[in-house]
Amino acid sequence: MIIGGKAVQAQSGKTLEVRSPVDGLTFEAIPRGEAADIDLAVAAARQALSGAWGKLSALERGRLMLKMAQHILDHAEELALLEARDTGKPMTTARNDMVVLARYFEFYGSAADKIHGEVIPFLNGYQVNLLREPLGVTAHIIPWNYPAQMMGRSIGPALAMGNAVVVKPAEDACLSCLRIAELALEVGFPPGALNIVSGLGEEAGAALAKHPDINFISFTGSNEVGVLIQQAAALNAVKCVLELGGKSPHLVFSDANLELAASTVVRGIIQNTGQTCTAGSRLLVQSDFYEEFLSLVAEKFSRVRVGTPEMNLDCGPVVNLSQQQRVNKYIAQAQQDGLKILAQGQIDPNVPNGGYYVTPTLFGQVPAEHPLAHEEVFGPVLAAMPFVDEAHAIALANGTDYGLLAAVWTENGGRQQRVAKALKCGQVFVNSFGAGGGVELPFGGVKRSGHGREKGFMALEEMSTTKTVIHFHG
Ligand code: NAP
Ligand code: MG
Repeated sequence: MIIGGKAVQAQSGKTLEVRSPVDGLTFEAIPRGEAADIDLAVAAARQALSGAWGKLSALERGRLMLKMAQHILDHAEELALLEARDTGKPMTTARNDMVVLARYFEFYGSAADKIHGEVIPFLNGYQVNLLREPLGVTAHIIPWNYPAQMMGRSIGPALAMGNAVVVKPAEDACLSCLRIAELALEVGFPPGALNIVSGLGEEAGAALAKHPDINFISFTGSNEVGVLIQQAAALNAVKCVLELGGKSPHLVFSDANLELAASTVVRGIIQNTGQTCTAGSRLLVQSDFYEEFLSLVAEKFSRVRVGTPEMNLDCGPVVNLSQQQRVNKYIAQAQQDGLKILAQGQIDPNVPNGGYYVTPTLFGQVPAEHPLAHEEVFGPVLAAMPFVDEAHAIALANGTDYGLLAAVWTENGGRQQRVAKALKCGQVFVNSFGAGGGVELPFGGVKRSGHGREKGFMALEEMSTTKTVIHFHG
């Protein structure tokens, strides 16, 4: 762990075993940080704010972050190997994740000195300045699906605005995050600017969320824990940003570019073995060409291959045993309920025994009230269903508790606009689909997908505050 600029073990000396999803075997141990370690990390962050870190100008903070972006790229292969071992993802995906991680530092490093306060016209004889200031110590609780990317997304804007950060990565995937914190020390981030404590969610995570000396929490993960985070934030009256997953729909109308839509739909659910908050897990298709479109999707879906990171196929294993059981349970339940499997991918016969592999599965004619149509599986399982017209498509799309992202496929310009406006979610793609889009694009949910915005310049506003200075000069 990194606390106050030093690499440390947990004060208790306890560790946690790290298990590889590729074969289910342990290969590493990480410190099991607890409340006492969180106390030290928060204190180190607080000290950094009144020390060297707090004294840096915005320009200097930005330059440090740009140096960090380059340092990440110089270590991209090492980081990608760590990430692939830890999460099981294909090497190509892991490598791309490191490019995105570097991009967060580049984007927010470049932005550090470009967000500023305002002068507000007021009564004669007054000068009113709106200062933009850091929040203070910010807490960042990271999930296991894209550990490195999520850490960059969360701490990038926080550091750019001059906050000092404490990171709690997920117990199932934190090797890349721990290494990233070391890299930050190497490029010269002052002690305490970036602290990281590994450990269990119920121990280190809960201690961080309820710590009385933090000023903000950024959380990405499950709904259940998100609610606990918001409760903890409420007790300290601090702001939190929650990103809690989704059940993102594709709305495919019969005038869509079929080939592009079909291949994008398949990619959108198998990416990261479906363990993506923005996974396109519902496929709503206009009924008059439902059969035609689904046969195209099924044909592509049946070609999906699952293997180890080195095999570098479409999917790796899922992250752990409970995730494997969860996905298999959804598939078995849907079959028991009589839902029809239209296509399945294949697990490579040469994967090691004991790994957490699941079979990508496409279900057709899923009734809107079936759990597969509205619960987040967090695996490569796609639920398709027909709609009759635009109004029906919108009603189905908005008919879950989630509201993170959606995609509309149609060549009709008016319909593109109408549907995009009617959808209740944080991002809409038209004739395209991306997991949350680029670093530049504000991202986040409505309804039970959470609140607050990350990415883009909006994250800089989320992770800072303002002070209005009213000056009477006569
Ligand atoms: P989770 O428990 O919500 O984990 C997210 C993060 O919160 C991890 O760092 C976790 O630490 C931490 N955490 C857990 N309990 C905590 C607590 N009481 N207080 C503070 N922090 C706590 O998610 P999960 O159990 O790993 O995954 C379960 C489901 O969540 C998935 O199947 C999926 O549906 C959803 N999920 C969504 C996203 C997303 O991107 N929106 C990401 C991951 C998971 P530990 O890992 O050490 O427990
Ligand atoms: Mg957990």
